[in-house]
Formats: sequence, C-alpha cells, structure tokens
Amino acid sequence: MITTTLGQMAAMCGGTLSQEQHRELPIQGVFTDSRQIKQGSLFVPLVGERFDGHAYAESVLKDGAGATLWQRDRGEAPAGAVILVDDTLAALQTLAEAYLAEVGCRVVGITGSNGKTTTKDMVYTLLSTTYKVHKTGGNFNNHIGLPLTILEMPADTEIAVLEMGMSGRHEIERLSQIARPDVAVITNIGEAHLLQLGSRHEIARAKVEIISGMKPGGLLIYHGDEPLIPTVLGEAETVKPEGLRTFTFGLDQSNDDYPTGMMFHSKGIIFTSLLHPEEGLDLPLLGQHNVINCLAALAVARHFGITEENIRTGLTGLHLTGMRIEQIVAPSGLTILNDAYNASPTSMKAAIDALHSLKGYHHKVAVLGDMLELGPQEKEFHAEIGQYAAADRVDVLYTYGPLSEETAEAARKIRPDLSVFSFTDKAELIPHLIKRVHAKDVVLVKASRGMKLEEIVDALVKEN
Ligand code: ATP
Ligand code: MG
Repeated sequence: MITTTLGQMAAMCGGTLSQEQHRELPIQGVFTDSRQIKQGSLFVPLVGERFDGHAYAESVLKDGAGATLWQRDRGEAPAGAVILVDDTLAALQTLAEAYLAEVGCRVVGITGSNGKTTTKDMVYTLLSTTYKVHKTGGNFNNHIGLPLTILEMPADTEIAVLEMGMSGRHEIERLSQIARPDVAVITNIGEAHLLQLGSRHEIARAKVEIISGMKPGGLLIYHGDEPLIPTVLGEAETVKPEGLRTFTFGLDQSNDDYPTGMMFHSKGIIFTSLLHPEEGLDLPLLGQHNVINCLAALAVARHFGITEENIRTGLTGLHLTGMRIEQIVAPSGLTILNDAYNASPTSMKAAIDALHSLKGYHHKVAVLGDMLELGPQEKEFHAEIGQYAAADRVDVLYTYGPLSEETAEAARKIRPDLSVFSFTDKAELIPHLIKRVHAKDVVLVKASRGMKLEEIVDALVKEN
C-alpha cells in the first residue's frame, strides 16, 4: 500500500498542500468511501452524479483519516491536512500512475467482453507460483477501481495483474495509460455494452485501446478467433506502441495456441494444446470457454517464464471469484451451476455449452433470465439464445423476465416437445422449479446482474 508523507503525495498527484506544516505527515493508503474510514489514510472525495464526497471530508478528518484531497472548485477546504487539486478523480489516477512507476513492477492488463475476472484469477494463480503478485480484488476494474487497486499494492510487488473494464470508448485508453502494461490480454469481443457503443466493431476498438499505454516491446495476447481485433489493429487511427508483439489463442488452428484435445469430466476439463502437447493440463473449471481463457493465461505465464511444473500445480489450486460457473452440490445431491454473476449472448452460449458438455446427469435444466443493455436488437438476441438452448443442448428450459419470453418462444418454436416454462415472477418460478428437479439433475442459472438470479440458486440449495 502506498506509504509516504503528505508532501510527497501532493507532489505525486500534482496537488498543493493547503497548510505547509503537514508536509512531513506520514500517510498510509487511500480510500474513497466515507463510510469506511481508514485511519491515517488519504480520503479522496469523488464527485458523483448524486453524491459529492466533499460533503464528508471534514467529518472523515475528525474521525481519523490522515488527510484529504480537496477539489478547488468545491469552495473552501476544511482546516487540516489537505491537498488541493483541480480534479479529485484525475488526482487519484495520477497518484496511482506515480506509485506504480515508483514500485517499478511489471504489469499485466486484462480486458475483453467476457472472461476478464476469470482470466485474471488464472493469471494470478500461475504467476504467484514464482513471483510476488498483486491483482485486482473482485471486479474493481474501472477508472476508480483500477487506481485504488494499484494504490493498495505492496511496495515489493513484482507483477501487478489488473482487470480493465469499460462502458464506452476511451475508458480503457485511460486505464492503459495509468497502468502502462508490459503484457495486455483481450479475452474476446462480445456484445456487452452494445447499447452504449452501437456495434461490435466499436466494441473491438474500445478493447484494443488497451495497447495505447503499453510499454515499448510489449506483448499483446488476443483471441484470434475474433477477426475484428486484427482489423482494428490494422486501422490507421490505432496507435501502436513501438515494437508491439502479438500472440493469438482460440479454437481455430490458425492461432499461436489452440486446444488439441479436451476431456470433459464432472469437475472440470483435462486438455492439451499446441504448446502444451504432453500430459493433459487439469483445469478444475467447467465450460470450453474456460479452456480458451486458460490458453490466454498460459501465454502470460510462459512470457514470465513459469515452468511447466508450476503451471500444473498452479492450475490444480485455482480458485475463481464467485458466481462464475460455480459448481454447487445441494444437500439433496442436486448439482447447480451458479453463473448468476452476469450474462450477454456470448457468455450465455458459453454457459449453455458448459451445461451441455456435462455427462452423467439425468436432466440438464437451464434457468435463463434477461440479458440487459443489449440495445435495439435485444429481442433477437434473446430469441437466438432460445434457439441455441433448444437445439438439443438442454432438456428443460425455464426463463425469467419479460425479455426472456422471447427466449422461451423461440425455443418452443424450434422444439415443440421441449419442456419450456416461462416466468416473470421469481416467487412463482422457484416452487415450480423445486418441484421439477431431482438429485440427479444439473441446473444452470444465468442472467444479467440486475436479475439477481442468485436468489434462485439460494432457494434451490435450501429446499433440495
Ligand atoms: P465483467 O465485465 O462483469 O467484469 P468479466 O469479463 O470479468 O465480466 P467473468 O467474471 O470472468 O467476466 O465471467 C463472467 C461470465 O462470462 C462467466 O460466468 C461466464 O459465463 C462467461 N465467460 C467467461 N469467459 C468467457 C469466454 N471466454 N467466452 C464467453 N463467455 C465467457
Ligand atoms: Mg470482471
């Protein structure tokens, strides 16, 4: 965690001290949430649409914060240890940039429409076998979360693994300029944020922005099955760092690494790839998409010289951030695939494939809820998922939410004999589902975050 004097922090974030006598005050860490005061830390009051952190600066100082930033246009600063800046968010980012440079560790930046957190966790696990690694906690991947992640990093960190998310153009660009990655990963291009960005091409441009802040001679690792990435890399407006190297992964055999064999079992997948042809690697995760994420993580690991032996032991101990195809066995024996964290068409299909690939279950049941923020084509996307699931990939389909009625309807149309149940009220869906499923079944639960399908998972665990 950043540990220095207030004067030094002011210099690092481009601010000035409001009172000189606090120059040598020791400060450890920063925080932005006034409800969670960190003693002796620097409070960063952010200006949001509904809240302005400046309203809390004075009380936070009284309650033990070491110091506070203060944006000059917010009126008179409170008395005490205060750094004056023009923009508190920009100052937070500049401070992170300066601290990262001071620590001098190498940086892996990870973006993409789906699989960022998963790939980040894999990269962290593999690199941690050999290095001191710091990673983004949870999903702290935006213009505020990324600088906070950096500022929490221990000073002896050797590699930082940073997730970079976005909801519009030029956001990843800023994150890349703060983090200056040595290695950048683009997991894939999907449809998430289509509403905000308008087209997949524009989404690809937004992801490729990750190269804008890369160090010269950096390595870009990307999903080679997605033609839009090389297209964007070739566009005149794309500024490439000097000596940029690329590496591709994917299912297609034109990639630098691709799976050469996959054996699906109830706890995960054993696979070989072009660059790991020997004994199969044992990935304790479900879903072919996780093999693809793993190929990206392996490329990062090889770049940092992780040995094959460490790769193997690392993979065995892999732990993912929750609700990403998390396999739960209820007391009754019912298996649940909790993928309620989020959903978009690409990730829905990946999860349906994961369900489909499982063997030894009686019925494969999918509970699919609305995918949000997809823009004008949202109905078509839902219908497409219905067709995909009904094409012999599931035995029973439940849908939840108004948009998912399109999913149900499309499924019924192509497979009239399929059991399809459509609900807009969880209180009705849950008892119906509980009555229907048995110990030998497996149930996939997935929708956008806003649909809160973990409530269905909880009910299944409790009642079965
Ligand atoms: P967010 O944008 O919310 O941070 P993320 O990119 O970090 O998401 P993860 O949290 O790793 O993504 O995974 C979210 C869901 O996306 C998973 O539960 C899984 O269903 C799906 N997913 C993960 N990797 C892939 C992939 N490579 N292709 C398609 N779907 C994927
Ligand atoms: Mg994430």
